[in-house]
Amino acid sequence: MSKVRHLLGISGGKDSAALAIYMKEKYPHLDIEYYTCDTGKELDETYELIRNLENYLGKEIIKLQGAEGSNEDPFDHFLKMYGGFLPSSNARWCTKKLKLDPFEKFVGDDPVISYVGIRGDEEREGYISKKSNIQSIFPFRKNIWSEDVIRKFLANSNIENVLEFIEKTEIEPDGRFIDLLGQEISLAFTQQQKLNLLLDTDVKTFNALVFSFLKETSYPLSKEKDFPLVDNDDILIRDDIFKLLEESGVGVPAYYKEKEFSINEKKGTYARSRSGCFFCFFQQKIEWVWLYEQHPERFEKAMEYEKDGYTWMQGETLQDLIRPERIKQIKEEYLKRRERIAKNKKSPYLIDILDDAEGEGCASCFI
Ligand code: SF4
Repeated sequence: MSKVRHLLGISGGKDSAALAIYMKEKYPHLDIEYYTCDTGKELDETYELIRNLENYLGKEIIKLQGAEGSNEDPFDHFLKMYGGFLPSSNARWCTKKLKLDPFEKFVGDDPVISYVGIRGDEEREGYISKKSNIQSIFPFRKNIWSEDVIRKFLANSNIENVLEFIEKTEIEPDGRFIDLLGQEISLAFTQQQKLNLLLDTDVKTFNALVFSFLKETSYPLSKEKDFPLVDNDDILIRDDIFKLLEESGVGVPAYYKEKEFSINEKKGTYARSRSGCFFCFFQQKIEWVWLYEQHPERFEKAMEYEKDGYTWMQGETLQDLIRPERIKQIKEEYLKRRERIAKNKKSPYLIDILDDAEGEGCASCFI
């Protein structure tokens, strides 16, 4: 039986970096392999973050690349293969070729626990591999389990089974917990409601039960004798992430730092809201302007990719976007939007405003 591998992917974003710090601090005995999928098109700040993390972890972060053996950057290699057709949110060949395929090759058929840095204040689910030998765990959330595990565990058809195997374990849930477990899911009592109530009643008992349940399955965790995260009841939100990065000395990736600009005698700040390729089509117009003004050489490279007629954004070329009147308009609209959103939000962070679309995009690229 092959040994279960514990993996943590570093995207270059704040959340996966903070997760690496958290896991080292809280679970130093877990033998975690850290990796990053390098597209060859990240900002320098990302590579700097990875170096800082390596120093902090005292361990190499393994660099995975698509198009191994090619003499070009992985992105350029595949772009040529696709005849210059730029990726987009509807045709995201980049994520598959540059992130998912190299990761799945690295894993092979080994049973793997993959730790994912979705925060406790996020709604999205994150990347769950279709390969049955890869199991995702979410240490920052109250519910550390992936949706597929929860669905199986809480299925109405599994209620009898769970109640029976409790008898065979040393776990002793209280009466309320047992009542909740026995309650069927229905339109009036959804899976999410049942899950929340169980977690609120006793998260550690819930985790211990799920772990025992997994022993009867072929999930990678069924091969582990113990799993220390069953005792984890931490919930980490955005503030905690920044604190971990700052207090560890690893630092917040520089592209999150706000830069000032002024337009029509009004002052504003902008930054980039996520990691990933500098030309990523998920970025907002104001982030393209940020790239143009803060990393002009990178912007120029992004423009070169549009020479074959494909564009990064629908309906606007980068050449059009940098017309002075267009930049002015983007900044004005952004400031207005920011004012509007800030009125309804208590968070002091610019990225709360920039990252309306944080849930959008690829968990492999941005967490
Ligand atoms: S960061 Fe954007 S462009 Fe790069 S691989 Fe991910 S989705 Fe594609």
